[in-house]
Amino acid sequence: MSALAGRAGTGELPCIRCGDCNAACPEGLPVLALLDALRAERDDLASAAGIDACTACAACDAACPSAIPLARRFAERQSTRRARAALLVRAGQARLRIDARTLRLRREAGEQADREAARVRDASSGDAVAAAIARGKARRAEKPAGGT
Ligand code: SF4
Ligand code: SF4
Repeated sequence: MSALAGRAGTGELPCIRCGDCNAACPEGLPVLALLDALRAERDDLASAAGIDACTACAACDAACPSAIPLARRFAERQSTRRARAALLVRAGQARLRIDARTLRLRREAGEQADREAARVRDASSGDAVAAAIARGKARRAEKPAGGT
């Protein structure tokens, strides 16, 4: 059975590494390298090979004698990558919100502690003043009238 016969009848056949997909890509992407990266689950290599520039035009599909659905696979990987990136952004934003809340709670706790310390300080200084006044009154009361 020829590759083309397989394409028409039983669907996807093994890649014969003919390179026709590379030649067909209007974006000049290394399509075979992209396919290899996807099959190896190497997102880093797919990214380096420019998967984000794939427009899913399917010119590579049309050129592939093995009927490998390249454009669909690239599009699926792109959407997975975008979803993951969006998830990372949301996780980062949540982290920032948590950090900001933690800082706010710490600041409020510090301010509360400062207020409490000031209140205790004021209360004790008020006691000291009252005690001094009481001592002064007591001394005056002890002095004989007309004495020095
Ligand atoms: S055109 Fe198809 S068979 Fe040929 S190298 Fe590309 S993916 Fe493989
Ligand atoms: S689908 Fe993507 S990889 Fe295939 S020819 Fe179009 S731009 Fe190139």
